[in-house]
Amino acid sequence: MRSLIQVALDVPIAAHFDYFAGEGTLKPGDWVWVPWGKGQRLGLVLAVDTSPQWDLDRIREILAPAKALEPIDKASLSFWQQVADYYHCGLGELLLASLPKLLRTSQSPQAALGKAWQRWMASRPAQAMAPWHRSQLHSQQAEALDKLSALTQGFAPVLLHGITGSGKTAVYLSYISLLIERDASAQVLLLVPEIGLTPQLAKTLESTLPPKSIAILHSGLADNLRAAVWSAASRGELRLIVGTRSAIFVPMPHLAAIIVDEEHDASYKQWESVRYQARDLAVWRAQQRQIPVILGSATPSMESWHAAERGRYRRLSLSERANLLPPPEIELVDMRKIRQAAAGLAPRSRELIASLLQEKAQVLLFLNRRGFAPLLQCSACAWLSPCLACSAYQVLHRQASGFQLICHHCGLRAKVPKFCPQCGNSDLSPQGRGTQKLEEELQAIFPQARIARLDRDSSQGKRLAQTLAAIHEGAIDLVVGTQMLAKGHDWARLQAVVVLEADNGLFAADYRATERLFANLMQVAGRAGRSHQAFVQAPRVLIQTAHPEHPLFADVRSHDFHAHAAKLLDERKTLGLPPFRHHVVIRAQAKQADAVFEFLEAAKQWFEQWLLAQGSSALPLLRCYDPVPMNLARIDHWHRAQLLLEAGDRPLLHRCLSDFKADPYRQQRRVASLHWYFDVDPQDI
Ligand code: ADP
Ligand code: ZN
Ligand code: ZN
Repeated sequence: MRSLIQVALDVPIAAHFDYFAGEGTLKPGDWVWVPWGKGQRLGLVLAVDTSPQWDLDRIREILAPAKALEPIDKASLSFWQQVADYYHCGLGELLLASLPKLLRTSQSPQAALGKAWQRWMASRPAQAMAPWHRSQLHSQQAEALDKLSALTQGFAPVLLHGITGSGKTAVYLSYISLLIERDASAQVLLLVPEIGLTPQLAKTLESTLPPKSIAILHSGLADNLRAAVWSAASRGELRLIVGTRSAIFVPMPHLAAIIVDEEHDASYKQWESVRYQARDLAVWRAQQRQIPVILGSATPSMESWHAAERGRYRRLSLSERANLLPPPEIELVDMRKIRQAAAGLAPRSRELIASLLQEKAQVLLFLNRRGFAPLLQCSACAWLSPCLACSAYQVLHRQASGFQLICHHCGLRAKVPKFCPQCGNSDLSPQGRGTQKLEEELQAIFPQARIARLDRDSSQGKRLAQTLAAIHEGAIDLVVGTQMLAKGHDWARLQAVVVLEADNGLFAADYRATERLFANLMQVAGRAGRSHQAFVQAPRVLIQTAHPEHPLFADVRSHDFHAHAAKLLDERKTLGLPPFRHHVVIRAQAKQADAVFEFLEAAKQWFEQWLLAQGSSALPLLRCYDPVPMNLARIDHWHRAQLLLEAGDRPLLHRCLSDFKADPYRQQRRVASLHWYFDVDPQDI
């Protein structure tokens, strides 16, 4: 007797595919190998019909059950199905894409897994554990730990709002230790934005938790090892998994708590294929498992802050620094009055840097723009190094081989022209300043200083680790960098921060730009003065701006997250923006601009008709805006535009999206090269 089974695959064209399976005991949640075209694919069984009413020749037989993967239990399966429905993707697209490649591609990975696992075990330090003791925590940390420790039953979402340097990590660690003490089989998931940027975290974890019980999933991990860690966790074997956003999918049967560090960080949102938000998934997963989830940040997202204000999340606060010293003094430097600014530095900034260099303290210079200069300009006409494939400019970079123009959006490279391509003039000059140029200029002003640059160009893999280690050891005096500097670093000698060109983002069209700017400023400022090191000068942050009167800076200066968040939330409430209303954008791209707009215009009409059909009570609940070009209207020759749907009612919105997806209308409208997708809860609109 054959059964007919529905299998989810990692292909976007359908939610499931039908296969026959012979005698056996397949059930929903099992993994199977199935034929696909001429090859084979891993699939997830969604449903089994043991007495199919029909038999079709074109339905193929599965190849084999996939024994190497732990089946997904019924409750988890229905949970992930709900998540897939929320993002309007298939369950296969959601779950299979996150699996390590070895598990996704090999029918019998056991040998490779076993080897990788042994190698991993052998490589981990076996030192005795020295867990954080409650007695080592200062009073606010201990209080937070006690409140966490009291959450013994059920779903408990907690927002841990701790200012920069307040010692959130020690709270996480002592809480994890406590959970493991209570139940030796407990598993904890710790999500972090980017592991490569905080190598100390790994060390701290391994020295405070039981040896060989912590696995860190980072992008540099060999796939065999990633697969081995994944399998071990899904068998319940590891106590702590630390990872970036995709670690939210690691199956952990004894999951006891989830922690999301720096929960405001934009990297929790996936930017391609299924556009999920790992922080939201963490909360939903904790709810499904009925366990605590801790969201930690000095600058929480407005979504989480709002939930805490409404009492949906419990808020725990750390308002003091762990070193019990006051936070750094923040000064605004008015750039309007400054004529001469070598390296873009006001005299005040330059003097501060010089005096701190004397003291052998470190200074951080934050300039959120990589490359040498953002543009090359012709002095005679209006030519400004455009990218031929995008509606953006090519950025001037200094490479080992000389200068080059590079587009930051499509990667297109070009030689630096000798003459203006438009008018033939030979006087072309770089405009503005990126981190490469700043580094060079600083070296000229402070020839003795040891300078390191931290940005995506300078910092990958081994080199990044080396740079971070040098900064940590104090072998670097000045650190120049982009927003990589804003992420969780804890450098003892760092005593001052200078922020250049803070004004980018003050007047941006994207409503989240000020939230990001505020968070970035608070985070970089928070890197200064984190240890007990006795420097003559108190920790200090200089923000260079041409708009010192802007209210955002007043809140930054007073370290007043509460006041700033209240203003942002007020504004969003008035304007009907998230988290008060919900957004979904439909983004489309095609080689012809007309096709994109034609598609979106038609989509808009479809939405309006759909809404009319729901009756008049639905009208105020859903709104469809006009199609508009995206911020970057063209990337790599693709024209891009979007349509915003805004709703006060999520179920209505999601019903609308499902109906749209299911409507054959969109098939007819398809231009050969047109692609479109939903972005649910977009981060940028
Ligand atoms: P946050 O993540 O909140 O910005 P960290 O967890 O990085 O802060 O801690 C800041 C610094 O304070 C670290 O160097 C950490 O080792 C130290 N620290 C944390 N808690 C304590 C404590 N109870 N006593 C002494 N130092 C502490
Ligand atoms: Zn010209
Ligand atoms: Zn380009």
